[in-house]
Amino acid sequence: MEAVHPGYCGFTRDITLHRLGAHVWCARGRPGRLGTVQATIGHDAIIRELRTLAASSDPPHALLFAGPDHTGRALLARYYAMLLNCDFGPGGPRAGERAGDALPCGECRPCRLIAEGVHPDVITLTPGDLLCKPREGDSHAKHADSRDIRICQIRGLIELTARFPFEARYRAVTIDPAERMNRDAANTLLKTLEEPPGHTVFTLLTAAPEAIPETIVSRCRRIDVTTVDRGTIEAGLVARGFPADVAEAAAEAARGRPGIAMTFAAQPDLMGDRERLAERCREIAGANIRERFRYANELAERWRQDRGSVSRELEAWESFWETELAAAAARRDEAAAMEALGALRAVRLAEEDLLAQVVARMALENMLLSFPRGTLGARPREAPDNSYV
Ligand SMILES: [Zn+2]
Ligand SMILES: [Zn+2]
Repeated sequence: MEAVHPGYCGFTRDITLHRLGAHVWCARGRPGRLGTVQATIGHDAIIRELRTLAASSDPPHALLFAGPDHTGRALLARYYAMLLNCDFGPGGPRAGERAGDALPCGECRPCRLIAEGVHPDVITLTPGDLLCKPREGDSHAKHADSRDIRICQIRGLIELTARFPFEARYRAVTIDPAERMNRDAANTLLKTLEEPPGHTVFTLLTAAPEAIPETIVSRCRRIDVTTVDRGTIEAGLVARGFPADVAEAAAEAARGRPGIAMTFAAQPDLMGDRERLAERCREIAGANIRERFRYANELAERWRQDRGSVSRELEAWESFWETELAAAAARRDEAAAMEALGALRAVRLAEEDLLAQVVARMALENMLLSFPRGTLGARPREAPDNSYV
């Protein structure tokens, strides 16, 4: 078997194995969190491209940032909003006072408001209630917990974009994660992308571009955001004032995702947690059926009080199986790779089930039962258990 990567497949619309050349894309479809820094770590070529686009007389009104979670897509979208609205940028009150490569300034009012996430015209639409606008004369229950971006939200968005921005030259709307728009929502957005209001730019963020209708993708300028090499992340962390040893450890643990590296560098304890969780995954992967059920129950109990800790545990499982998959691919062990891939899908399904409010114990038991028997180099803690079928 050639070297393979897990990634989204345009054909099956599912995470799958890709042969050489595919990026390793994260299985999670959740929005990344913004850091406090203005620019991303890495992605110099994209930053140059965004500067060129923003300086043109007719900047593209829709960008699609496609790439794994935590690689900096949201920061790049924010950066584009700053470029378009900086006082020193084209059309701004102080245009021409600064060279193009000194933009955005990061200091003017629009830059500061955008950096702080409080600019009234810079909006991120995510699954939930934001901008919910039921059809005329209709009403419906709140849906803060919904896992899709719904048509009512897109309706609200279109109503908003029909008006002029409060103060921006360009209103900037980010849709994250864009593949979570359900079909009606995507169709409604498409009409707007076909006849875009001149004062609004859309940036769509996704880890699964194949899951977005081609009609939408073709209306956007697509920018692929890849993982960043370890040395660049480490240097970026040092430049942001983190001690060299912390930067090195965080860059190593982040597996190419600057957003995760920033989190680890800011809270090094989490790296310890990560190792502890990874050790636990190894134990459970090698455990018998009874122990796995016990573990599933424990997680389900915890889900009631502390969802965050269960989510972190599932992320640790993703990382565990991604590592197993990479190791199996490296030694060309197709059977083990398929097992790891199945386990990776099971983790993702459990995450989706939990978001969709499936009974937690059931979702977690299903996940644990989908994992391969206690092999894969894990260390079983007791003799093989024949009850595991
Ligand atoms: Zn500025
Ligand atoms: Zn609604």
